[in-house]
Amino acid sequence: MTTRPNVNELLEAGFGMGGERLAVLDLVDTELLVPDPSIDLLEPAGQRDKWWALQASRVPEGPVPDAAATRRVRSAAREVLDAHLTGRRPQATAIEDLNAASSSAPQSVRLSADGQFEVRYHPEYGGNAKLASIARETIELLADAEQLALLRRCANPECSMLFLAEHKRRQWCVGSICGNRTRVARHYEKTRKQS
Ligand SMILES: [Zn+2]
Repeated sequence: MTTRPNVNELLEAGFGMGGERLAVLDLVDTELLVPDPSIDLLEPAGQRDKWWALQASRVPEGPVPDAAATRRVRSAAREVLDAHLTGRRPQATAIEDLNAASSSAPQSVRLSADGQFEVRYHPEYGGNAKLASIARETIELLADAEQLALLRRCANPECSMLFLAEHKRRQWCVGSICGNRTRVARHYEKTRKQS
């Protein structure tokens, strides 16, 4: 459950970003917030299925959650992460939504026949295991000061992507895309002012 999806596969499938250490970051990055109105990369439904399929190595098995439930967890995660980044208190409804998703498919640990550690999700309580695992990941991230200190929003002002800067100098979501675009724009600004 810890293998990351390949960023190139996600980009080729039409997602602006992906392959981050946590699935929750890939999920929040499926909504582009700078365009008005924002762009939902999980639409249409075919894209949503494709995204969950690409995350299969690190989310529990089970049905793909419906669009509304996915959006609710994505907005809640975005809200608590943005609140952290801007130093404000998150909206209470976002915290409630995350807690509801996390507890909707509770987990238990067990030992497999060959002695391996296994986590089981219990969707029989009416929830969705995939969303429960992403909500749990969000809660664990917020509770982990060391990881949380690495949370960044892309340095490109036209980009809303979030990521964990595993290398301290990382500023861009995808350096080859946003980094270049921003460097080109800055260079253009500079030469334009000079002329
Ligand atoms: Zn970016």
